[in-house]
Amino acid sequence: MRIGFGYDSHRFEEGRRLVLGGVEFPGETGLKGHSDADVLIHAIIDALLGAAALGDIGSHFPDDDPAWKDADSAQLLTEVVREVRGAGWTIANIDATVICESPKLRPCIELLRERLASVMGVGKGRISVKGKTNEGMDDVGSGKGIEVHAVALLDDLGAVK
Ligand code: MG
Repeated sequence: MRIGFGYDSHRFEEGRRLVLGGVEFPGETGLKGHSDADVLIHAIIDALLGAAALGDIGSHFPDDDPAWKDADSAQLLTEVVREVRGAGWTIANIDATVICESPKLRPCIELLRERLASVMGVGKGRISVKGKTNEGMDDVGSGKGIEVHAVALLDDLGAVK
């Protein structure tokens, strides 16, 4: 088995739509970024790539490459899952913590889990998403952006040396 850790943060930017875990949050301020700035999926991608020792999101989808401008991060995650599986790994579970003052994530947690499980082709029981605030501390606590920490556990079922 292998564990991987992923981290990402994006600052809010007026006029952008907010997409988290492949779910759009209508009426909420979006995040600044080259792609759709889905900070939750970006952290999960880095956790998966880290566990499989396959580099990081920047090496796969460079943010100065026009190909990834406004990219749908859910599609990037699908691609990464395909690559990780192609290297002989199965996804045991994902656990992610989203830190922000807004939006409030609790009412959306089940939807996020369902969407991520569907994108990754795993059971919802393997995906955990937790939301919390930063208690008003630091830039995230003052509402400047969203930060995500994620871990991924992979199982090689004896296939990877
Ligand atoms: Mg990012």
